[in-house]
This record gives sequence, C-alpha cells and structure tokens, in this order.
Amino acid sequence: MDEARRELVEAGREMLRLGLTRGTSGNLSVRAGDGILITPSGIAYDRLRPDDMVPLTFDGRHEGALRPSTEWRFHADILRTRPDFAAVVHTHSTHATAVAVLGRAIPAIHYDIAAAGGPTIRCAPYATFGTPALAAHVLDAMDGRSACLLAHHGVVAAGPTLAKALALATLVEELARLYLLCLPAGEPPILPDDEIALVVALYADYGRQPARDAGPT
Ligand code: 13P
Ligand code: ZN
Repeated sequence: MDEARRELVEAGREMLRLGLTRGTSGNLSVRAGDGILITPSGIAYDRLRPDDMVPLTFDGRHEGALRPSTEWRFHADILRTRPDFAAVVHTHSTHATAVAVLGRAIPAIHYDIAAAGGPTIRCAPYATFGTPALAAHVLDAMDGRSACLLAHHGVVAAGPTLAKALALATLVEELARLYLLCLPAGEPPILPDDEIALVVALYADYGRQPARDAGPT
C-alpha cells in the first residue's frame, strides 16, 4: 500500500508537469486490497503527500482524516467492473475538454485511437461532478473502451498500471488537439472500423521485446 501511495503522488505531479491539469482539477486512483486507493478531494498536486491518499471500499466506505475525491464513484465503479484495469486517471486537459464542450466523440482520425480500445473515444453526457449520474454515464461511455470524454468537464482514462492510464490520458489530449486542428477544414476523413480493429489486435503485442524483458543485456 505504501508503494501505491507514493506512486499516486508521483503520478499527480507528472500530470501537472505534462500540463494535463491545473490546481486541484482531476484525480487518480489504483486498485488496492479489497477496494481502491484514491487522491483526496481539493488538495493541489504539488502539496500531496503519500499519507494523504484515501483507501476506499467499492461502495465508498473510508476512514481517516481526509475526504476522498468527489469522483470516487466512477473510479470505484470502473475498477470494480473492469478487472483488466488497475488504475484510473481523470483530467481536465484543455483540448480534450474543448471537444467535450462540443459534445463530440473523438473519431478515428489517427490509428493511435486503437490504444483506447475502439474506433471512437465517446463523450459521456453532462452530469454534475461527483454524482451517481455522472458515474453511470462514464461507465456506459467506457463500455469496451479504456477512455472517454465527459461533456463540459474532461477526460477519464484507465489502464493496467498508473503509468499506462496516464499515457492514455496524454494520448486522448493529443488526439483531441489533432481533431481540433483538422476541424476548420471540415469534418476530417476517418479510418474504417475494421482497420481500427486490426490495430487494436496489433497493440495487444506492440512494444513487447522478449530479449529485453528477460533481463538486463
Ligand atoms: P476532487 O478534488 O474532489 O478530486 O475533484 C476534482 C474534479 O476534477 C472533479 O471532477
Ligand atoms: Zn473533474
């Protein structure tokens, strides 16, 4: 658990360095024990300490001095229902949020969208932050995907590790920026679903290097 606490603090700082968040917006969680470990509500990332992280059961029970992130519901619901994920990252990154303000999904403008599991990154309908309604929308929008946009709000990305969830949140921001760069020329051409399905399959093995994974060479 101590390692997970340190990892969350470091990932929060990385989120700041990457420009994916400002102030206290966004939050992070990892699977831990019988529930999750999540960032506390309303504390700036550069002030967070490992001891500030809040252990929480999947139904929201927690102990300790600090209150968990207001978005604990969608973090807990994603990690409870998706055993393939061990970490969830939520940001308000600028370009992704701009696409979310437009209420649009990000379409398959680049093959890299396959990293989010399919041919679109859906946009969940708006609901007030921290509500069960928002959590339900997020779960629907994440069906078969590892990321989604939240209308008038931001981004959710999940992964098997915190590093991978953060890398995916970064990719969502980059794809959104690319989409916004294309839009002045009109709705851009998109890749067909079967091509994205092929890249999703290729990504299952991408970056695996047996010779290096076996140990130092
Ligand atoms: P917390 O500080 O409660 O995690 O809330 C930030 C946020 O992004 C709400 O959607
Ligand atoms: Zn938010």
